[in-house]
Amino acid sequence: MRWAVPVFLAWGTTLAHDAAPLPDSQIARPAGQFGLPLQGPPGPSTWLLGQLYGNTTGAYRQRNTGYRAGQGIHFGLDFLARCGTPVVAIGDGVVTDVDGPHGSPPHNLVIDHGNGLSSLYGHLLERSPLRPGSRVKRGQVVGKVGDSQFSCTAAPHLHLEIRDSSHQRFFNPIPYIAADWDSLSLVGGFSRTFQRDLDNPHRWQYPDRQPQARRGGPLLNNYARTWPPVPGTNAQPRTLPGNFAGLSGPALLSRASRSETQNLPNPRPITSGGCCVNPIWSPDSSTVLFLDKPSPQSPAAIYGVLVGQPTLPRAMLPLAHYAPNLAYAIVPGMPSLIQRISDGQRFFLNTQGNNVFWSPTNERVAWNTTSTQGNFDQRSTQVWVARLEGAPQEITTLYGGGLVGWLDEETLLLTGKRTPTDALRNLETLHLRSGERRILTSASGMRSILPSPDGRWIVYYVAFDRPERNGLFVVSREGEKRRLDWFGSYRWRDARRLVYIPLVLDEPNHRLYEYDLRSNASRRLADLGAKVVGDQWQISPDGQRVVFVSSRDRNLWVLELP
Ligand SMILES: [Zn+2]
Repeated sequence: MRWAVPVFLAWGTTLAHDAAPLPDSQIARPAGQFGLPLQGPPGPSTWLLGQLYGNTTGAYRQRNTGYRAGQGIHFGLDFLARCGTPVVAIGDGVVTDVDGPHGSPPHNLVIDHGNGLSSLYGHLLERSPLRPGSRVKRGQVVGKVGDSQFSCTAAPHLHLEIRDSSHQRFFNPIPYIAADWDSLSLVGGFSRTFQRDLDNPHRWQYPDRQPQARRGGPLLNNYARTWPPVPGTNAQPRTLPGNFAGLSGPALLSRASRSETQNLPNPRPITSGGCCVNPIWSPDSSTVLFLDKPSPQSPAAIYGVLVGQPTLPRAMLPLAHYAPNLAYAIVPGMPSLIQRISDGQRFFLNTQGNNVFWSPTNERVAWNTTSTQGNFDQRSTQVWVARLEGAPQEITTLYGGGLVGWLDEETLLLTGKRTPTDALRNLETLHLRSGERRILTSASGMRSILPSPDGRWIVYYVAFDRPERNGLFVVSREGEKRRLDWFGSYRWRDARRLVYIPLVLDEPNHRLYEYDLRSNASRRLADLGAKVVGDQWQISPDGQRVVFVSSRDRNLWVLELP
């Protein structure tokens, strides 16, 4: 399931900076020499990592506008927190600018660290009481978190940049700041995916491997062919890309049972060379699928590895989004192309370039169209439903939210506000035939909303709201709500069990736990022997396996669950 989460964006720097960029020889190399800009442990009542530095999908969509000055990438690192949360200096230094010409409003502060590097603290709530020339120590409070949209309800966050002291070059803060980034990346405001260049899809796909940017330089991500498509901009696709007939994907749909995997080491790598990100499972749990182009000669396509018989990845499916059971492919466009895999039947549907949510039987699809105007918490989203051969029907409008997914063939799960000025967002169901709507819960915002495979329970978390509203919750379709006593990254294993990785910093490895709704208790499942990179892990549909991108070697590893 996907859901529309507000993407917290920096405002681009608008004023001219004319100094010459410092050469590499005058700039300290990244060596974890700085600290985090927020105090204490992360969590739903303190702070969480937000948008990463680099070639994020969100920045790509604004490469010609808000992020043009940074060559089309997000040239800072975002931390989510309530307005007013203290911001601390990442290192010793001297304040050089208070509300200087550096963008990132309402207020900003720059500290020169004396090694060719400066740190910028953006979207501060108020003007810092510090003066240019003030000496500051690492960990000293230098400001308060504010909101890039001036409201404290739209997008409260800190935007942190590490620049050269001429303000011409921007660096990824991650290798400069000593922190457990793999664990911090487990939880945050929105998807952590990076835009793919289909001619070089391995480049810039990990949080710590992102390019430098130079003020006003040419776009780094002006891709001829890219993935995912940007809603509303893709031309009209006529066919699925690549030679579909030669691919082995349709066999995935007819395989009777998953392959035998006894006596294989656990966990074990299934790829080599650090190839792959964003893995998904085939419906029969036999195969891990991912976008790849293993050599310059090979096509960009969906490749797969049979986990029972690891071999080199094979091209299996054309590059597209797929229904969860792989029965249909969709290439978003104007209109979008939908193709049935079994017989090649094509449908064209005006989803305005958006990907769709498939109903459980695949008979209907639903999607969001979201305004690009206004504050994130007040933007309108229209929810649409259509049969593959029917006309799109506009179902409802929500503000600061949208469709989350289907709970059953007649019921949509929605989040958002009914009017732009409501204080709280709802999580609610909408019955398509009767039109009945039922509010399950309300809070400032529900994040990482995941319905259980049978659509009966929904897990989500609330952060930076009142303390009694913050935390991780499950709520049933009937409105029975339960607060869980753990916090971290979670996936459904089956209709009643969640598997999770706790958000705990500085442990050597990530560990999997399982929470059972029936017993309301957790148990430890397994040690991954490494950390998960970028929250990239998925449970197979049969609930028996986990695939993850390992911090050990950036390969895909598979674990059989006990
Ligand atoms: Zn930012």
